[in-house]
Amino acid sequence: MNQDKVEEMWGPRTPDDFHYKGELPAWASEKPVYEWQEDYTEGTAPPNLKLEAELYDDEGRVRAGDTFSNLSRINVSRQGGPESYTPLTSFDQAKFHPTILENIQRMHYKDPTPVQKNAIPLLMSGYDLLACAQTGSGKTAAFLLPVLSKILTKLSRTAESTVNRPGARRTKASPQALIILPTRELGIQIFDETRRFTYKSPVRPVLIYGGAEMRAQREQLAKGCDVLIATPGRLMDAMERGAVALDHVKYLVLDEADRILDAGFAPTIRRVLLSSDLPRDEGLHMMMFSATFPKEVQAMARDFMKEDYCRLRIGRIGGTTTDIMQKVIKVEEYDKEETLIELLLSQPPSRTLIFVDTKRKADYLDDVLYNKYFPCISLHGDRSQHERELALEAFKVGKSPILIATAVAARGLDIKDVLHVVNYDLCEDIDEYVHRIGRTARAGNPGLATTFYNDRNYMIAPQLTRLLVECEQAVPEFLSEFVSENA
Ligand code: AMP
Repeated sequence: MNQDKVEEMWGPRTPDDFHYKGELPAWASEKPVYEWQEDYTEGTAPPNLKLEAELYDDEGRVRAGDTFSNLSRINVSRQGGPESYTPLTSFDQAKFHPTILENIQRMHYKDPTPVQKNAIPLLMSGYDLLACAQTGSGKTAAFLLPVLSKILTKLSRTAESTVNRPGARRTKASPQALIILPTRELGIQIFDETRRFTYKSPVRPVLIYGGAEMRAQREQLAKGCDVLIATPGRLMDAMERGAVALDHVKYLVLDEADRILDAGFAPTIRRVLLSSDLPRDEGLHMMMFSATFPKEVQAMARDFMKEDYCRLRIGRIGGTTTDIMQKVIKVEEYDKEETLIELLLSQPPSRTLIFVDTKRKADYLDDVLYNKYFPCISLHGDRSQHERELALEAFKVGKSPILIATAVAARGLDIKDVLHVVNYDLCEDIDEYVHRIGRTARAGNPGLATTFYNDRNYMIAPQLTRLLVECEQAVPEFLSEFVSENA
C-alpha cells in the first residue's frame, strides 16, 4: 500500500489528526465538544449574527436533499383523534407564532414532511398523540414546532415566563415543556433544534443528561427554563435534589419511547407521571414518539393519555426509501481487509461509516487503516463518553471521515451526512441492517450502503433479498435463489 496514493485521495496526515494512539490534538482540547448557549435574544433585539451563524450554518447539520420530496410518498395511517382533520400542505397553514415561522425559514425547510403534515395540526388542536416515526423522518420538528409556538404565543400574551431572572426568588427550574429522551446524543440534537426554532425569542431551553457533571447542569436549572430536555435518570436525580419542579408542565413529550423503555426506564417514567408534582389534569398535553409500538409503549399511552388520543403510523423511512443504493458483494472473511481498502480508494473521499461486529475488530481495523494513512477513527462500547464524543466530533467536522464502529456504539447516535455505510460484518437481524443503512441518505439525501456477504451470513439472506427487491435494488447472482422463495 502506497502512502502517497492514500494521502493523495484522502489528504495528508497532519499533526492535527486525532487518533486514540496519540496525544489529543490541539483542536480537541481547545474546542469544547458541547457548550451551553446562554445568549437568547428577545424578540425585539437586533439580530445576533454570531449566534445566527452558529445555529444555522453548522457544517454537521443535515440539509434537506434533492430527494427530500420522496418522503412525501410515505404512507401515513391514523387511528383515534378527531373525526377528520386537514393535513398541512405548508408551514404557513399551521398558525405558528411569527418568530417560529421566521426560524423555519432560517432552517431552509420548504415543505413539511409526512409526520409533520399530520402531527402538527393534531397537536395544534390539542390532541394527545402516539406516533410511530423514526429518526430521520422530521419527527423532532413535528412535536417541537407546536409546543414551542404555543409557549411563545402564551409568553407574548402574558409575559409570564418560567425563566428565573437575576434576583428572582425561584431557584429551581419549572418548565412548561418536558421532553424525555433515551440518550444524551439525542438530547443534544433536540436541544440544538430547539435553539434554532427559538432564536430571537425569550424561550429558554435547558438540557440535562447523565454521565456529565451535575454542577454545571444545576446552575443552568437554577436560572429556570421554559423547555427542559432530559434523560430519565438525570431528570429523577434533579427532581430528588429539588432542582426541578414539574408543577408548570403543560407539554410532556416522550421521544424514542421504545428505547427509553428498552433501557429499563419504565418505572422511572411511571414515577414521573404518577408520583411527581406533574399536573395530571385535562390541561396536560402528552405526546409519545417511538420507532416501533411495543406493548409497553401502547400500555403507557392507554394509561396516561386522554381517551381521544390519536395514533399515527408513519411508514418506514430508510427501509423503503430508494434513496439508498444498496450493494451486496460477496467477500470471504480473509478478503475483507483488502476489499475494504480497495473500496476506500475507489470512492471519492466522503464520510464513511464501517460496521464491524466486535470491539476487538473495531480496534484492529482502525489500526490497520490508520497504519495505511487513512484518516480513520473508531467507536465502541469500551470507549469513555469523552472519547466517543471526540470521535464523533472528528468524524462530523471531517478530520476523521472514516469511522469504524460496532452497532452498539452507533445506535442512537445521530451521525450526519454519512455518504457511505459499509457492513464489513453483516448483522443477523434485518431491522439492525435497516437501522445501519439508515445512517446514510438522511432527510432525502442520496447514499450508498455496501455490504460484505459470505456464507456465514446465510441466516439473513432471505430477508435481505426481500428488502432489496422491495427497495428496487439489484439482487446479486448469489442471492437470486432467495428471490423465488420470497415470491
Ligand atoms: P429528525 O427525524 O427530527 O431527526 O430530522 C431529520 C433531519 O431532517 C434533521 O436534520 C432536520 O433538521 C431535517 N428536517 C426535518 N424537517 C424538515 C423539513 N420539513 N424540511 C427539511 N428538512 C427537515
